[in-house]
Amino acid sequence: MGEPTLIGLPYDASSSYLRGPAQGPAAIRAALRCDSTNAWSEGLRDLGRLADRGDLGLPATGEARDLIERGIRDLLDDGGVPIALGGDHSVTYPILRALGPRHPGLTILHLDAHADLYQDFEGDRYSHACPFARIMEEGLARRLVQVGIRTMTGHLRSQAERFGVEVIDMRAWAAGVRPELNGPLYVSIDMDAFDPAFAPGVSHIEPGGLTSREVITLLQSLPGPLVGADVVELNPGRDALGITAPLGAKLVKELADRMLAVNRDGEQAEACPGDPGKPSSPSIG
Ligand code: MN
Ligand code: MN
Repeated sequence: MGEPTLIGLPYDASSSYLRGPAQGPAAIRAALRCDSTNAWSEGLRDLGRLADRGDLGLPATGEARDLIERGIRDLLDDGGVPIALGGDHSVTYPILRALGPRHPGLTILHLDAHADLYQDFEGDRYSHACPFARIMEEGLARRLVQVGIRTMTGHLRSQAERFGVEVIDMRAWAAGVRPELNGPLYVSIDMDAFDPAFAPGVSHIEPGGLTSREVITLLQSLPGPLVGADVVELNPGRDALGITAPLGAKLVKELADRMLAVNRDGEQAEACPGDPGKPSSPSIG
């Protein structure tokens, strides 16, 4: 499997409440390059030369979905493993249109305050409140596991049941429930999954969320192969304390580190079965 590769998706025209996430990719890249920190992951990998395809040029219309799907397909054709920077959460549906069919048995780990399972939201089937309904309708993933949810409604609950979504809401998380995950795995992180104390720079402030450390620990324990990820819904105009973009950058580094750790080991095991020169079980550094 190829190298983790950034791709910016500056699109926020499917947001239901505020615009702003179109500025997210630039803010995360600026935080990644900021001299206030270094480019190393906690697992001691230097990510200073992370591959980056730049931003897609996206209109504020539905045509953006086709361009995102094509852009991710091109990235995959070139052997990259996408780390997409949003953008509002509607971008995850076209990403999965490109990626899902290449990974039968795919599990999505979705971190969010919201289930994003509306059949439509205010008449829009492609709203950022709907991407996971579209993904599950089209069978683009086998399992959808949601963590951090704390805004369920009756409609969303019935949609989750209809699609067989495994929901670990904040009450369950606080009680110690953790997801059991297998690869291939895609990770979608809405920045409002975090408690607003950790990530105030989002459009939808929802108290009672995850801590930075909880999410970083979860990312560091993910199984492989890790075939793609997105970090979405950063709204820099709301990030008055300037702490949300650095958290987005931290997530990018930890996701890239985890991809390099678990995907490389998986590749070795596939390429060299029974090779006595290789460890029999993956060594994760
Ligand atoms: Mn979302
Ligand atoms: Mn959300």
